[in-house]
Amino acid sequence: MRKPFVAGNWKMNKTAEEATALVKEMLPELQSVAAVERVLCPPFTSLMIVSALLTGTGLGTGAQNMHWEAQGAFTGEVSPRMVKEFCQYVILGHSERRTYFAETDALINKKIKAALEVALTPIFCIGETLEENQASRTAEVVIRQVKEGLAGLTQEQAKGIVIAYEPVWAIGTGLAASGTGANAVVKDYIRSTLEEMFGRQVADAVRVLYGGSVTAANASEFFEQPEIDGALVGGASLKPAEFVNIVKAAVR
Ligand code: PEP
Repeated sequence: MRKPFVAGNWKMNKTAEEATALVKEMLPELQSVAAVERVLCPPFTSLMIVSALLTGTGLGTGAQNMHWEAQGAFTGEVSPRMVKEFCQYVILGHSERRTYFAETDALINKKIKAALEVALTPIFCIGETLEENQASRTAEVVIRQVKEGLAGLTQEQAKGIVIAYEPVWAIGTGLAASGTGANAVVKDYIRSTLEEMFGRQVADAVRVLYGGSVTAANASEFFEQPEIDGALVGGASLKPAEFVNIVKAAVR
């Protein structure tokens, strides 16, 4: 049985002071939902304070990005070991990084390997754009992203990864995919590619989340799908009652 997983991606929102208030408001309710693996991903500047607030609560902390090199002359970047000081997870390959920062599958693959080297769990994001979707290229794109993103990993490494299927057209648009549509992509393209690459056991063990305009109102539509194990939540993760209700809906 795969443990349900819900992560909140705060994106570039909240100062450290605001992050503290947000965590304090949500924490008591979130702590009661131990059946779900719960992760908060604030901006870098709030990782230290948020991880301190979450220590011993059962919730985890995640970064939203990192560099792949261990250290060095990379002005403005943050290394895997720096992230690891405060986090157990790191979001990699988010569509906003692919779009605005030109992150390629090959670069994301380097970051995934670097995360695994320091025992961070990657939350690896994939998904097709609107244009690709409309051109019936979803299968091709998603399969390529999985193959290139996870190239060279061992079965053991692959097993521990969390994948977020996030159709780009659904992110921040209020236009979520349908539960059955997302389930089909996860089953037919993501798990089948995992099976081809790493075998059936790994394909069955990897948690695959849906992301894209998840709210408390539509979360159950995704969580009742057999292939979907939770959600990566953007906008709604900044609204305490919404996020708490999404996490509660993920209990199996
Ligand atoms: C995201 O940022 O990963 C995301 C899914 O955003 P939203 O929930 O706002 O669509």
